[in-house]
Amino acid sequence: MLPSLRAAPLARGFHSHSAVRGFTEAVGNTPLIYLKTLSEKTGCHIYGKAEFQNPGGSVKDRAALGLIREAEEQELIKPGGTIVEGTAGNTGIGLAHVCRAKGYKCVIYMPNTQSQEKIDLLRMLGADVRPVPAVAFENPKNYNHQAREYAESIPNALWTNQFDNTANTHAHYLSSGPEIWNQTQGKLDGFICATGTGGTLAGIGKYLKEKSDGKTQVWLADPPGSVLTSYITSGGKLVERSGSSITEGIGQGRITDNLATFIKDVDGAFTVPDTKSIAMLYELLDSEGLYLGASSALNVAAAVELAQKLGPGSTVATILCDGAYRYQSRLFSRKWLVSKGLETAIPEHLQKYIVL
Ligand code: PMP
Repeated sequence: MLPSLRAAPLARGFHSHSAVRGFTEAVGNTPLIYLKTLSEKTGCHIYGKAEFQNPGGSVKDRAALGLIREAEEQELIKPGGTIVEGTAGNTGIGLAHVCRAKGYKCVIYMPNTQSQEKIDLLRMLGADVRPVPAVAFENPKNYNHQAREYAESIPNALWTNQFDNTANTHAHYLSSGPEIWNQTQGKLDGFICATGTGGTLAGIGKYLKEKSDGKTQVWLADPPGSVLTSYITSGGKLVERSGSSITEGIGQGRITDNLATFIKDVDGAFTVPDTKSIAMLYELLDSEGLYLGASSALNVAAAVELAQKLGPGSTVATILCDGAYRYQSRLFSRKWLVSKGLETAIPEHLQKYIVL
């Protein structure tokens, strides 16, 4: 029998949660942060969903939990089994946590271009990490195909397939979508975020569209090198992927099954250049005290642009996907910034934060 749980005492001026049972119950229910400085600057109301507060540190804890929960419900995995996934990092971290909490083994295939911090963390969480060459999805050596093949080759193993398994979208439809709707009391003119698998955008977007009778606009923000903006603005033409971005975990070269469930309902899309994302990353640190990864910074830059499109007084929400801790050796290194041609994108008064 589990002991009964008591509500946490309310501390004046502090956010408070009730006690929960273990890692899995600690996922979700993140605060929606009003970004005061940017809201004042734009005359709009800009909110960021603090997904970095999930117990595994990112928005992908929700997808990881949803993928495993639905597989358990459908009896696709039995106790002691092995979860296998191809992931740029955060889904793997979420899966590794959930696997430890639930007693599964965890094998992660990832492109060898990802940050060392993420690889180290996965290994510390007990995952068997297998870095493979970063080749396109069409190539059979792509990390996703290698993950599927490995899962098929061993007993009681499951390839969670975050890109095309819509349990990912479903997790957001059931959790982050309703949370954002309730936290804004349904007064939301726009929602925007970048996508990797598309689960966050599709799940939240679908929920917000349904609840608002289509009144909440849902937009997609892309990093350079992703094909989704041109797909949406051209009415469905898929171009060859070219170019790259400093942002990790977002951008896409195809329409994943998660995105396919929603892409026709997306109201618009635009690309945010790395110069804008990195400047926003430093600005959020300086003005809001938020230490965020580059995809969060891109999302906030996009939320500002969308709020300006929607007009004065509009309310727009986005996702603060993870913290900068996983990328600090890059994002706060002068040498790295110079190598990417981004040092000059950071305004003079914010250069003091480049400490590495
Ligand atoms: N930001 C970061 C840092 C991520 O790791 C991911 C997931 N790859 C995303 C954003 C995008 O989320 P989704 O996969 O739900 O589109």
